[in-house]
Amino acid sequence: MKIPFNKPWFAGHEIQHIVNAAYSGHISGNGPYTRKCHSLFEERYGIKKCFLTTSCTDAFEMACLLIGFKPGDEVIMPSFTFVSTANPFLLRGASIRFADSTAAHPNIDVDAMEALITPATKAIVVVHYAGVAVDMDAVMHLAAKHELVVIEDAAHAIESTYKGKPLGSIGHFGMFSFHETKNISTGEGGMLAINDPKYIRRAEIIWEKGTDRAAFFRGETDKYGWVDIGSSFLPSDITAGVLYGQMQQADEIQKKRIEIWNRYYHNLKPLADQGFFELPRIPDYAVNNGHMFYLLMPDEQGRNEMIDYLNANMVQSVFHYLPLHRSKFFTPLHDGRALPNADRFAATLLRLPFFYELPLTIVDMICERIGRFCAAKNS
Ligand SMILES: *Cc1c(COP(=O)(O)O)cnc(C)c1O
Repeated sequence: MKIPFNKPWFAGHEIQHIVNAAYSGHISGNGPYTRKCHSLFEERYGIKKCFLTTSCTDAFEMACLLIGFKPGDEVIMPSFTFVSTANPFLLRGASIRFADSTAAHPNIDVDAMEALITPATKAIVVVHYAGVAVDMDAVMHLAAKHELVVIEDAAHAIESTYKGKPLGSIGHFGMFSFHETKNISTGEGGMLAINDPKYIRRAEIIWEKGTDRAAFFRGETDKYGWVDIGSSFLPSDITAGVLYGQMQQADEIQKKRIEIWNRYYHNLKPLADQGFFELPRIPDYAVNNGHMFYLLMPDEQGRNEMIDYLNANMVQSVFHYLPLHRSKFFTPLHDGRALPNADRFAATLLRLPFFYELPLTIVDMICERIGRFCAAKNS
């Protein structure tokens, strides 16, 4: 049987919480499990206020409604990311200026970002790629200097930190994803973290379809109605129950994932030292949350040969993002700047199988097959 790239995992607790939610009499959004998840995230990650959403994409859409964009407003973000980092801004009429990655890591090049700021710039988005923190002191400093809103795309980055601070708790907004490919998963799901209190009141309204329903249920008004724009961003309390169950296992999930990551690193280090590929680099200010393990091959052809070789040897490995500035949709909208580092990561990055139930013996076997590919290259 082929070793898959990803395999979702249920710890067992989730099922009990699904059953509890189902019999609780409250299976729509903002029920008991949703509130438990909000408190858990707020306490565990030091976030001011959380809102569970149906996806990380929806968390972005909420943030975009809260910030408010008018045509001409600009947003800076990395090109090497998923479409959901970008789409919500375009939906609100903003323009995107894509920034390059650093040479060493797919994360946005913060030093190069300042040159992209214009009087129309309103926000900057950073993506903590593979759960590795962007230099947030530099980002927050730049944002303060130019009065910009900072959004952390922490879709890969749950349980990761920057100088000891949890990612998603530093920018004005942080976004988490619980898609089945992420460390903590509900199938589909997301969380909007708000760290600037000025957005909280309105977020509650936008989250509940533009009504003051939440205030009503707290007894603050005697009836509720339509008070603002909004949408339906709440997942059912069944989904929240799944998240709660996964979070109860978070320590165990993380321990196992970091073990897998370290095993790959240890096994593959000798081959990297011989120059067959580069291994991921983690700066001193960041930690590793075991989200993914990738190799950087010397060139695109070598990368594709490795994917084909592993495929033929029953191991599914995959490349990652096609830079958004080169997408069919965005190419005509891009200002033409070359983004060579983003291009390089698109051409040379390869992700290895990574999931909770992946046995270390299989990690060893995958590494051995990689070794055989390298040996064949050498002969
Ligand atoms: C997964 C992912 C998203 C989107 O998450 P959804 O929950 O699927 O909407 C956004 N940004 C990045 C970097 C991601 O990896």
